[in-house]
Amino acid sequence: MNTAPPDTAPPVSAPPVSAPHPLVDRFGRVHTDLRVSLTDRCNLRCTYCMPAEGPGWLARAEVLEDDEVVRLVRIAVERLGVRSVRLTGGEPLLRRGLAGLVERIAPLGVELSLTTNGIGLARTAAALREAGLGRVNVSLDTLRPERFAAITRRDRLGDVLAGLAAAKAAGLSPVKVNAVPVRGVNDDELVDLVSFAAGHGYRMRFIESMPLDAQGAWDRSAMVSAAEILAVLEERFDLVPVLRHGNAPAEEWRIAGTDAVVGVIASVTRPFCGGCDRVRLTADGQLRTCLFATAESDLRALLRGGADDAAIEAAWRAAVLGKGPGHAIGSADFVRPDRPMSAIGG
Ligand code: SAM
Ligand code: SF4
Repeated sequence: MNTAPPDTAPPVSAPPVSAPHPLVDRFGRVHTDLRVSLTDRCNLRCTYCMPAEGPGWLARAEVLEDDEVVRLVRIAVERLGVRSVRLTGGEPLLRRGLAGLVERIAPLGVELSLTTNGIGLARTAAALREAGLGRVNVSLDTLRPERFAAITRRDRLGDVLAGLAAAKAAGLSPVKVNAVPVRGVNDDELVDLVSFAAGHGYRMRFIESMPLDAQGAWDRSAMVSAAEILAVLEERFDLVPVLRHGNAPAEEWRIAGTDAVVGVIASVTRPFCGGCDRVRLTADGQLRTCLFATAESDLRALLRGGADDAAIEAAWRAAVLGKGPGHAIGSADFVRPDRPMSAIGG
């Protein structure tokens, strides 16, 4: 199913009277969600994400300073109508002074969340909550220590589980667990992961693996599709569909008779490009309108070149007007983006 909008742009309707003017593209999609990558570095080496030696890192001077990140987020909120901000990476907990950054972004009035591998979260969850973080997604592909070490190339399962527990204890809500099922690697743990998450009050989400690994080894036949995931889960659980909220990428089901919710993000087999409301900022200040975009807009050059807020707003709007209708994974036209997921911000 292709849910991308048609390739002819309908007229964009007049914005509501309330300021700011929405960040709208040629297809009428309004962008209210900003993903901000705070670093491309990581302390894990998940096999579906990067090679053992790492993908090659940005130089420190290339990465935006806290003041630059805060300024861009402020422009996004005050001038472009962004309402939710997710901090990601690489591994965002590796960013020095993360709680201080959260403390500066939260008062801008956005729904503020974090996507992390959970290592270090046991130490930092309470301070992040205190600083204004609302919710957290923690990646966890397996509950088995040896398998965790094989998938991530680091023996750190205990740290991730402790991070999850600390996030919940700190009052971050919801706490979501993200897993990427890979055939023959962890696809026999779907039910165990759902049971684990349900038992701890976390929300389980499965993500179809995407051709965004740094080493270019993605193999569609190793991807476990949403249909396969659901078929396995339905054998064990009575799943009741949950009405999808707005432009949320996950399709969700409640396990009948419980509060437990499980989601599937089917970017490959059931793309949701037609409702996309996201823009992404890389750690080095490049604006991307899609994970799969092949072009970027250099906001860092504007920032460091002395541009005023209006000029940055204009560049941002121009980039979004150039956003394509959707990705073409699986079609002959598909071109892998130059940057891997870890350098874009997942
Ligand atoms: N390091 C943090 C983490 O792992 O949560 C944040 C960055 S990571 C790139 C964000 C999400 O992207 C994680 O849930 C990870 O599992 C997912 N991811 C990484 N590579 C992927 C791929 N090739 N296909 C699908 N999801 C991927
Ligand atoms: Fe690091 Fe996240 Fe990529 Fe794993 S998925 S290597 S934790 S950036």
